[in-house]
Amino acid sequence: MISSTDNSRHARAPIRLPQTGDATLLAAEADTGAQPAAQNETRSISCVIPCYNEGPNLRRLLPLLEDILWATRMRWEIIVVDDGSTDDTVAVAEAWCELSGFRCISLSRNFGKEAALTAGLAAATGDAVVLLDGDLQHSPELIHTMIAQWVAGAEVVYAVREQRSDESRFKQFGSRLFYSLVNASDRFAVPKDAGDFRLMDRKVVDALMSLPERSRFMKGLYAWVGFRAVALPYTPAPRAEGTSTFNARRLVRLAIDGLTAFTTWPLRAVSVAGLMLAVPAFGYGAFVAINYLLFGNEVSGWTTIVVSLMFFIGIQMISTGIVGEYIARIYEEVKGRPLYVVRSERGTGLETGKT
Ligand code: UDP
Ligand code: MG
Repeated sequence: MISSTDNSRHARAPIRLPQTGDATLLAAEADTGAQPAAQNETRSISCVIPCYNEGPNLRRLLPLLEDILWATRMRWEIIVVDDGSTDDTVAVAEAWCELSGFRCISLSRNFGKEAALTAGLAAATGDAVVLLDGDLQHSPELIHTMIAQWVAGAEVVYAVREQRSDESRFKQFGSRLFYSLVNASDRFAVPKDAGDFRLMDRKVVDALMSLPERSRFMKGLYAWVGFRAVALPYTPAPRAEGTSTFNARRLVRLAIDGLTAFTTWPLRAVSVAGLMLAVPAFGYGAFVAINYLLFGNEVSGWTTIVVSLMFFIGIQMISTGIVGEYIARIYEEVKGRPLYVVRSERGTGLETGKT
């Protein structure tokens, strides 16, 4: 594991030193807590952008982000992870890779945002890594404030949505339900309304990368590794171009991934529910038998029998389903497949020596 004081990383990090006389430097110095320039110049920062069909958005985001990173006076790199896009995302990103500091990692197909983030984190070499979406919903201007908090000692600075009123009732209810279920019984809590937009110190990134699991529910993993975290309230901008790929079906799948990865209480709940139903059922069975033997009363009520039968079968199938979800996750883990496959890498990634 690379420690935060490992100097060899500095040698490998793509270096874009700030140009003297940059007009934006003064403003940035104020924004980043007026750190002495020399202190900032020894630090390096990586920005990771997972992208699935974000060509038009990247055209706007990359120049914006470049200006912001110049202004930090730190050494920086921008890593675009193309998650199997079918539009011109790769072409746009690779055109920027002609400049040093820009890198593009193209995955062989669409592996999902969590895998794309992991690929970006694995490639990042900075002392801190910022994760942000490619659709301009995560305002790059906030990076200055994140850096200021990091320089002041925070190990994680995560953006928290101030309100979700722009979302549908279904999504708001679903997210409330999810957080109450996932945080029901553990020593750490997954912060509500916090997403992937965050800055993480090298220590945190190394801790995340040391986690071996394949099912990577990132919001849970961020919380699991801990560290000193600072929340930064923000209001996400509307998506610049295109539509979100996280529809209801994908969100439900993500929620089930999160629940199975970070809780075991549903398994216990199944046993408790089974016990709670079995005990009265046994008692009732005994009552019917005694009633018949002692008093000769025949059992009546065909409807009752059918309804209770269906009820118990339903409970049993739900229980098998819950257990099945956990078994499926075990199966995924033991297969041990890589999380993603890289088709190509471009840019001044000094690790590969390519330009
Ligand atoms: N994304 C990705 N792979 C996917 C889906 C999305 O890399 O399979 C990226 C997407 O390009 C964007 C970010 O993840 O940069 C967030 O996606 P989106 O805007 O669709 O989600 P939402 O903002 O609704 O959470
Ligand atoms: Mg979005």
